Amino acid sequence: MKFSPEQYSIPDERMQPFIDPVEIWDYLHHTITSKEQIRDIVAKSLAKQRLNLSEVACLINAESPDLVQEIKEGAKILKRTIYGNRIVLFAPLYIGNKCANDCTYCGFRSSNKNAVRKTLTDEEIVREIESLEDKGQKRLILVYGENAQYNPEFIAHTVRIAYQVKKGHGEIRRVNINAAPLEIDGFKVVKAAGIGTYQIFQETYHPEAYKTYHLRGKKADYGYRLTALDRAQEAGIDDVGIGALFGLYDWRFDVLGLVRHTNHLEACYNVGPHTISFPRVKDASMLDLGTRYFVSDDDFKKLVAILRLAVPYTGMILTAREPAALRDEIIQYGVSQIDGGTKIELGSYSENADTEKNLKRGQFRINDDRPLNDIIDELLGQGMIPSFCTACYRLGRTGEHFMEFSVPGFIKRYCTPNAILTLAEYLIDYAPESTAQKGWQVIHSAIGQMEDQKMAAMVRLKLEQLKAGKRDLYF
Ligand code: SAM
Ligand code: SF4
Repeated sequence: MKFSPEQYSIPDERMQPFIDPVEIWDYLHHTITSKEQIRDIVAKSLAKQRLNLSEVACLINAESPDLVQEIKEGAKILKRTIYGNRIVLFAPLYIGNKCANDCTYCGFRSSNKNAVRKTLTDEEIVREIESLEDKGQKRLILVYGENAQYNPEFIAHTVRIAYQVKKGHGEIRRVNINAAPLEIDGFKVVKAAGIGTYQIFQETYHPEAYKTYHLRGKKADYGYRLTALDRAQEAGIDDVGIGALFGLYDWRFDVLGLVRHTNHLEACYNVGPHTISFPRVKDASMLDLGTRYFVSDDDFKKLVAILRLAVPYTGMILTAREPAALRDEIIQYGVSQIDGGTKIELGSYSENADTEKNLKRGQFRINDDRPLNDIIDELLGQGMIPSFCTACYRLGRTGEHFMEFSVPGFIKRYCTPNAILTLAEYLIDYAPESTAQKGWQVIHSAIGQMEDQKMAAMVRLKLEQLKAGKRDLYF
């Protein structure tokens, strides 16, 4: 007879909270750090091996400037040698800010009576997406408050709209989600709409600290949130994103929390997180947090570099919460995705901004409001290849970050050519002349550096097809 845990009333271990705060603090308190150790740990990561909790604690405890420099240099080398100079671009689209929870750091929280509540209608979603497509966006993350109205059917409906809207050569080719945790059946409904990644941030992994920030609503249940991505996995969503909101608790604890979560997903489902996000708390309407756990720019740079080394195979997302100059620097420590042309006030991609109204309609204040083309222009100036690639997800090559990292030649065969092709589409359809010139130079130089001449010829052929009007070409 087939074994079933329910039948024998054996609790499913995978659905149990898996964070032990004492264990995490033990690692942080009992780890001695020497120069040799740091070098060995960085070397292990560069040899493409995952770091364990004790090794990550060592990196965290390295405080002298020369050791921190070694960590940052290690992360830079890892990014350059394994992932190359591509950076994937996306945009967030806020669908609704009604929220039953009361997270004290968030402008959408239920007790914020100043917030102007809004849920986009189908027509408004279409308008927003047309505006995003007009700028050249191809990848979106849809964002929702937690409210009975935003049930799985509603989320699935909005995802389908996003895929259906086509304007000129514009179309959305990948829709990711950042929304409340669901039950297994709910995740199945959303998966059926064809989502990419389902992202849920734990905010802080420390259970006691978590309680102090989440006052009401379902989100007050730490364990239910912590096991959300297990339910997603059970529902067949193997592409999940984790994250912590830095500034709520000691950053060192939450870095280890993220790594512990990664261990859990790997151990139970044989697949780690597709992406890790590390937002820092930003100003929000009615924000009242205090500064006890404020994360300085220097600590932030260090923690990004440590996460890169700790989980070398995963995608790393840095958002427009951070100012442009800091983003430009931190990208080098291993970031693989950034948002561009971001507006987070509901309905603001298709209407003119009104700052006062916006803080009331937005979740928090962003610090990089450069238009998408400015960001692309800047990246090109640094010799990077902005990419809108969605090939792996659409060809069913799941676990793409892991393959990029572990399959020899994967980046040369797929990622770089696809980055070039999606950049070329952007240059042809949306870029002003000056950006287009820079972009074609970067493309020609990238093709010139290809060792595989057959691949170079195939890319050139596809570029000619794009110039002749074909679209959506990929390997
Ligand atoms: N309501 C869902 C939830 O809480 O999971 C959707 C996500 S919420 C709209 C997106 C993320 O924004 C949260 O998970 C949190 O990490 C982050 N966030 C909230 N308030 C913030 C603030 N003041 N500054 C920066 N990030 C914030
Ligand atoms: Fe609601 Fe999410 Fe904001 Fe919490 S973080 S108040 S759940 S929108």
